Amino acid sequence: MTIFNFGSINIDHVYSVDHFVRPGETMTSSHYQKILGGKGANQSVALAKAGCDVVHVGAISKQDTHLLAELEAKGVNTEQIATLDLATGHAIIQVNKEAENAIVLFAGANHALSAPQIKQVLANAGENDWVLLQNETNEIDTIITTAKAHGLTVAYNPAPMDKAQVEKHLADIDLLIVNEVEAMDLAGVDNVDAAQASLVAQHPNLQILMTLGAEGVRYLNGKAVTQVAAFNVKAVDTTAAGDTFIGYALAGFTGNLGIESVLKQACAASAICVTREGASTAIPGHEEVSQFLK
Ligand code: ADP
Repeated sequence: MTIFNFGSINIDHVYSVDHFVRPGETMTSSHYQKILGGKGANQSVALAKAGCDVVHVGAISKQDTHLLAELEAKGVNTEQIATLDLATGHAIIQVNKEAENAIVLFAGANHALSAPQIKQVLANAGENDWVLLQNETNEIDTIITTAKAHGLTVAYNPAPMDKAQVEKHLADIDLLIVNEVEAMDLAGVDNVDAAQASLVAQHPNLQILMTLGAEGVRYLNGKAVTQVAAFNVKAVDTTAAGDTFIGYALAGFTGNLGIESVLKQACAASAICVTREGASTAIPGHEEVSQFLK
């Protein structure tokens, strides 16, 4: 069983700041780190660390092939990552004292996926394989329609949220993964319970994972709701918490774990992630997650 993750690969420039920079202000950062990131790459790393067979499908600059070596070292198959004459996607990330982040994103090569590349990658997928995607690449429509045409299971994490884009595909996907802000935006309401009620009423056959930050997660499967609390840890940097959660949750779904165990494992992995700075580098391995759960 393979997970094909159609996702972004970014270079994250992470700056520790006293507060987010204001209009006209020039501010000195006390600490800088350059890290492999992007929701797509982070989720591939989390899947690989959770023990999944993951093929990342995407594109980077041909000047940044060290990123392929870095992903491979973390267990990700990089054979379907194109190297192009375009800038690698990148993000400028400020992390403040409250461990919140503010991000400027440039898509670069992440928007160079092509329909023929997508069709060629999925042509040989097996019937038990999964497709995972986010909203940081182009060709979302082609990815979902091609995956469905091959009868694959599709998990969609529509981040950043684009309501019109997501609504087009809610009937075609199997698992929707949203955080609370994305859930509220999608449902057009201003609280999580109303978002849950509205999404379930409108899409009774859709499985939904709604992550709630320090409150944990809810899994909605028709009228059945499973809620698991987050672990109580000291958060230092919440970047990649959701990506870590998604990687571990999908690893659990494609394994034989019960839903409570799946969610608990994913909450444990993301709790460890928030205690560390950085994106892909903050994602724990499954041994560490097992130790944490003991
Ligand atoms: P995103 O990063 O996409 O906004 P969330 O903030 O909902 O996603 O976080 C995803 C998961 O990470 C949560 O469901 C929870 O399990 C875990 N998590 C996030 N913040 C914390 C925190 N402060 N303490 C413990 N766990 C957290």
